[in-house]
Amino acid sequence: MMRTRIDDLILYDGKGGRLESASVLFDENGIVAAGRGLKDAQAETVIDGKGLTCTPGWVQGHTHIAVDGLPNMQAQVMRDDTEAAVMASAARNSLRCLKSGLVAVRDMGTNFDVSIKLRDAINAGKLLGPRVYASGRVLCMTGGHGYYFGIEVDGADEARKAARAQIKRGADLLKIMATGGGQSKGMKAGVPQLSYEEIRAIVEEAHHAGIHTAAHAQGKEGVMNCLRAGVDSIEHGVTLDDEQIELMLKQGTYFCPTLMALWYVIEKGEASGIPPYVVEKCKIQAITHFDGFTAAYKAGVKVIAGTDAGTPFNYQDDMASEFIKMHELGMSVKDVIVSATRTPAEAFGVADRTGTIEPGKWADLTLIEGDPEADLEAFRRVKMVFKGGQLVYSNENGKDVFLPVL
Ligand SMILES: [Zn+2]
Repeated sequence: MMRTRIDDLILYDGKGGRLESASVLFDENGIVAAGRGLKDAQAETVIDGKGLTCTPGWVQGHTHIAVDGLPNMQAQVMRDDTEAAVMASAARNSLRCLKSGLVAVRDMGTNFDVSIKLRDAINAGKLLGPRVYASGRVLCMTGGHGYYFGIEVDGADEARKAARAQIKRGADLLKIMATGGGQSKGMKAGVPQLSYEEIRAIVEEAHHAGIHTAAHAQGKEGVMNCLRAGVDSIEHGVTLDDEQIELMLKQGTYFCPTLMALWYVIEKGEASGIPPYVVEKCKIQAITHFDGFTAAYKAGVKVIAGTDAGTPFNYQDDMASEFIKMHELGMSVKDVIVSATRTPAEAFGVADRTGTIEPGKWADLTLIEGDPEADLEAFRRVKMVFKGGQLVYSNENGKDVFLPVL
């Protein structure tokens, strides 16, 4: 087994620790050692890590990997009406994820269940890409948010049947549309959609199968429906208040705030081609959302970093903006890194294999130029990405170099 050693790094271990002048030693079986005093350790490849920061491989907590970030998300999803078209976009976007430091993504909805098939193609070595935690199609009510890449269910029995069907197809999680959303035409954003009973049926089936659930939920009633039903991860969670935060803490619910999704819509506005109904809905939500995020973080809610990539101007190769926004709203740099590494690994049930830099874990590593504690822009300067000990991406003097798939 060929070993790689990288020396003279700044190392963030994903547990909140930071160490200078550190080395990391690994091979394709996993991390062998990390820390100081390793410069004599035998390795076939030795890399000078001076000026670089190494963290556990970043996880995108919320993406739609087949969608590109065009001004009208719903229109793109409806235009790409063949499985081949969706798969082609997903394959290309997989490379964009790698070059922005992502070793893993949680896909929150693709047509034709493409994210499940993408995961299998990547795992089989047919395509290069990040580890994919796939929901396939979303579960929504008839005409509900995301119906254009969803399975429409009405009543607890239909919800249960669709949940079982997605589990049969190989979903790693079930994505629930609990309320209306910004990107869908013809509905209010914060109103409840799937009922408590429907959500509960989906959660039960997911938990019986040993997988987790994530719910698009905005607005008090919809979020409360999810929390009462035992949903594992609240997505967006716009207008979180003290009661909801307390319940999330009590139940250990994860929170993926997707701050940039709202931000881009408001920043770019109608002039950029974003449909007026989208801009209007997002404007109403933004202020309370940013306050709710800060309150939840300060209270100790477990935050997962995710951008909702695929929404307007929210590209697959930009994880850094979400990190910077989270920091601007009060989160420490160390906690930003934890929210993109250890916390998602815990939420996805893979924390025994990944999420931190420790011996025995997968050698999933993201290396950036500079130290984000001194310069947040360092998050944008991705230098190398290792997945399972393999160098899958490197930036060679500004040129993107990907591991060939042969
Ligand atoms: Zn989404």
